[in-house]
Amino acid sequence: MLQNICKIVPFLLMSHCRKGSPIENSGSRYRLGKIEPSYSCEINAVGHCNMTCLDCNHASPVCKPSWADPSEVYRDLYALSRSYRAEYVKIVGGEPLLHPDLAALAKAVRRSRIGRRLMLLTNGLLLEKFADNILKSFDLIEISVYPNTQMDADAVSLLRARMKALKVEINMKSYENFRMTFALQGTSDEFLVQRIYDTCKMAHRWDCHSIDHGFVYKCAQAGAIAQMLDGCTIKPGADGIQISRGAGFLDTLIGYFRSTSPLNACRYCLGLVGKSRPHQTVPRGEWLSLHNVTTEELIDYEKLYQAENEKAFDEASGRLMS
Ligand code: SF4
Repeated sequence: MLQNICKIVPFLLMSHCRKGSPIENSGSRYRLGKIEPSYSCEINAVGHCNMTCLDCNHASPVCKPSWADPSEVYRDLYALSRSYRAEYVKIVGGEPLLHPDLAALAKAVRRSRIGRRLMLLTNGLLLEKFADNILKSFDLIEISVYPNTQMDADAVSLLRARMKALKVEINMKSYENFRMTFALQGTSDEFLVQRIYDTCKMAHRWDCHSIDHGFVYKCAQAGAIAQMLDGCTIKPGADGIQISRGAGFLDTLIGYFRSTSPLNACRYCLGLVGKSRPHQTVPRGEWLSLHNVTTEELIDYEKLYQAENEKAFDEASGRLMS
């Protein structure tokens, strides 16, 4: 009997270490001294974009041209890598192919060793002109395809053949409908803000962590909203955690991911319960005014009830939201 227990206990301990412990209220785990998101974290290569999609959840159509400095990215990721690691690091934007030195940025991310694999997320419009040696910096290139950016079958075959020769995986994802994300007048209904946050899988299940200018955010929307609001009602960085190598940083970050309190940005964001509409692009100068509405105007209440029911069911049955 004792012999059997001696065999089972180390096995259970090892398997617990391999899997780690879930971080409550998030999709992340704590394993071998580090936080691991469910899949990936993301870096904004640039803020701006060559498209003006109405429901861009990074607010890129109104971002001033700006790009990430590879040496700053390395410094931040290297510091963060003491407490955090991800399976994938996604290089996103804006449109990341607008970065003036994408190869140096990719190298900086790899050198930090914060992620095992590197993914580029692009609308693909500039891909054809990009040099092979830059594209080879990535393990996976994911192209978001919209109704107005579809490629013909020949162009797709050529692209696939090129990526195969470069040994880079390629994934094309079509998006026809979008859920509305931003309501820049927000809401004063605290209960509604809490409901939006509670049902937000970006914060609680998918863990779309964004690392930007020395801060870690639960979601890209938090940083984007702070920059967009007139007069900066939310100070940039207020909804994130400043990266540090100091003692206590790991606990601070775990506390941030576990928190049940909405971010300041959740007052102006629809999470996953905004109304849905077909993808469309709009004139850049009209983008902000088209989002100058209240949260209540954009909420899909049926989707909100459905998300709450799903969450309640999953909690009762001990399952995670999928
Ligand atoms: S701002 Fe709030 S509701 Fe919006 S994605 Fe982030 S956590 Fe979710």
